[in-house]
Amino acid sequence: MAILQKNIWMLFYILLAGAFIFLGIVSYTKWTSITKEYITDQTNLVKLASNATHTLLLSQEMTLNILGDQILKDKDPRIMDDLLALNPSIVAFGFADIEGNYLHVSSNFNKTKLPNLRQLAATKDSFEYTMTQQKMVLGRTYFIAASGRWGIPIRKSIFDKDGKLIGVMTAGLAIEGAYKIFTENISLGDYNKVMLIRDRDHFVQFESSNQESPKKLYEEPLSDNFLNAVLEGVRQKYHLSIQALKEKPTIYEVEITHSDGKHVQVSIKYDSRYELWVLSEIDCAHINDDFIESFLWYILVFISMHMVLFFLFKMIANAESKRRKDLIFQATHDELTQLFNRAYLHQHMNHWIYEGAPPFSLYYLDMDHFKNVNDSFGHQFGDILLIEFARRISSLVRKDSIVIRQGGDEFIILSYRIDNDELLAHSQMLLQEIAKPYTINQFNFVIGASIGIAKYPEHGNTLDMLLRAADIAMYEAKKYKNSVRLFAPSMQEGYLNRMNVENELRTALDKHELYMVYQPQIDGSGKSYGVEALVRWQNETLGLIPPDQFIPIAEASGFMPQLGQFIISTTLKEMKALQIELGVSFQTSLNISVKQFMETDFLENLISQIKHIKLERVSLCLEITESLFIEDIEYILPLLQKVHDMGIHISMDDFGTGYSSLSILRKLPIDELKIDKSFVDTILDDITAQKMIQNIISIGKNLELYVLAEGVETQEQERILKEFGCDRFQGYFYAKPLTYDALKAFLTSKAP
Ligand code: C2E
Ligand code: CA
Ligand code: CA
Repeated sequence: MAILQKNIWMLFYILLAGAFIFLGIVSYTKWTSITKEYITDQTNLVKLASNATHTLLLSQEMTLNILGDQILKDKDPRIMDDLLALNPSIVAFGFADIEGNYLHVSSNFNKTKLPNLRQLAATKDSFEYTMTQQKMVLGRTYFIAASGRWGIPIRKSIFDKDGKLIGVMTAGLAIEGAYKIFTENISLGDYNKVMLIRDRDHFVQFESSNQESPKKLYEEPLSDNFLNAVLEGVRQKYHLSIQALKEKPTIYEVEITHSDGKHVQVSIKYDSRYELWVLSEIDCAHINDDFIESFLWYILVFISMHMVLFFLFKMIANAESKRRKDLIFQATHDELTQLFNRAYLHQHMNHWIYEGAPPFSLYYLDMDHFKNVNDSFGHQFGDILLIEFARRISSLVRKDSIVIRQGGDEFIILSYRIDNDELLAHSQMLLQEIAKPYTINQFNFVIGASIGIAKYPEHGNTLDMLLRAADIAMYEAKKYKNSVRLFAPSMQEGYLNRMNVENELRTALDKHELYMVYQPQIDGSGKSYGVEALVRWQNETLGLIPPDQFIPIAEASGFMPQLGQFIISTTLKEMKALQIELGVSFQTSLNISVKQFMETDFLENLISQIKHIKLERVSLCLEITESLFIEDIEYILPLLQKVHDMGIHISMDDFGTGYSSLSILRKLPIDELKIDKSFVDTILDDITAQKMIQNIISIGKNLELYVLAEGVETQEQERILKEFGCDRFQGYFYAKPLTYDALKAFLTSKAP
């Protein structure tokens, strides 16, 4: 079960790991798609920028060309003003001779104030280069003070009809600082800038960013390593020489790091006509930010999903661990009372018994007559009683004690109390609490319990030994009901004796140690009308054991059905034989204990025995005791009725010692009341005994029953009994219980 618990978390971790991998893949995909998107945007931007630049420059080149030719022809600079008016991106036009002197300028400039282009350091280089070229050449971007704008000088050599270089047509192409070259700003955003870089000297011609100051930007060449690093990166990535990549009108992409450590994604294209690099760079940090934003969303979803999942698993795990705890609880607890059960006791005994363990006591509690409650009121009732009983004892034990339901109506308490007086006082308190009335379904009743106590290690150092010792003590306590006994070694003797008797009893039948004796029963006229069959056991080591000693043991050890069988069959056989032999007929009384009577097939056995012996002529009587009516009356009554209907008489033995009510007695199919010997013993000098006997006799007369007095030993007793109206007698005064032969002799001698 712990495995399941572990597996649940294992599953969770597997899911978590899977989700992590998934997150990784998704994030990576997102990362590449974002990067690709930026690269694509940038590529398109470079394409757009390079096309627009090329077109712009080409149109300006054409203007310069036409203008140069015209000026050469007309020598009239006014056309410059006309074109200037039409072309707002041009700041000024000028025409210089090959020495660098301005010959004509648009009227917005003063020709005399303009420098010689061949002498000024900033212009010399590109001016001279222009004269070597057929195409338009771009000068360094500079601040055109006269117009207050930044501009790119564009120059074009002008040739006469013979192809001779006449001069250079020049113009200032305005840009908005470091921001705009076209009517629209071309940039994807703050994170991006587009640059036009001159290949020749790496001067920036234009940059679409308004972040840097134009002066710094345009008046110094670009730091050497940047463009070189870009080109080197491209060269390596595309395996091309610089020359080859300049010739191909392709857009190249490369990622490089600025000297200040900034990562950028670069797209670059070369415009070979104007010897310009059109370069766009995107700050990788921005791509990262963009990615991180969506990544954060993923993480958020991931975390919230797993939180939910975690709580789900937590719930399952909790439920599982609760289930496990419940199972353990169930396995170690009694379902009804919720106390620990026997399994728990055996499993946990090592908490109590170990080397050097402190001494403790084991109480063995057993309810008195619990079976009666169950039988009379039903099991549901019994269950409620058990719960209440358990509650009461649990409330009276210390925290370090444990209470166990050993099974049925037996309970065990383990306690660290060891002082004898304290133990007895505590037990008495328990018994008092137990004896308080129980109210169940409006019924009020009381129940007792017996307690036996054994001490560790004094009375045993194993659970079994302690249980046995406590059980023995409890057995002693049971004799008195509702009492407590501490185990004492002397009790062991009684116990061992019981064990001994039990052992010997098992073989008594085979060894023919059991036999029957018969005590005559006399009617008012002194005639023997019947006998009571009494069992005897003569054992070679134990001697003659009285039946009231061994019968309870036989019952407790489950030997009674066999013994009962023997008693009934022997009695029937012998009494039939005797009656045939003597040619007389008399009643035979059999003692049937409560346990015997309650055996499931008691009646069937009796009937089959009667049939087996073919006993029609002999009249039978069963002696039962009042304690039978503590048992389930609903079950007993029809059985008694059936016995009675078969012509078998029923006698109520030991009458007066129990508590049969008159109302019950009225319902019973009985023929005879048997006054207990204890009343007869004291009849001569005890007035209460006399009253009792008189009462019994009047009840008997009332219900039209025979009344038999047993234990009559003297003539005096017989006299007074007769005076009270007793009509049947049994006792040593007439005859002791007799063996078969002695009975035969007795009956013969008595015969008229
Ligand atoms: P019980 O049924 O009350 O039997 C009467 C007992 O009183 C017998 O003792 C009998 O021997 C004794 N007794 C009879 N008259 C006198 C007398 O004048 N003076 C004295 N002192 N005693 C007298 P016993 O045979 O020892 O039986 C004791 C008890 O054992 C019986 O009491 C009966 O409950 C039980 N028992 C005996 N035999 C059987 C049996 O075969 N089956 C069953 N189930 N129980 C039996
Ligand atoms: Ca009897
Ligand atoms: Ca009796």
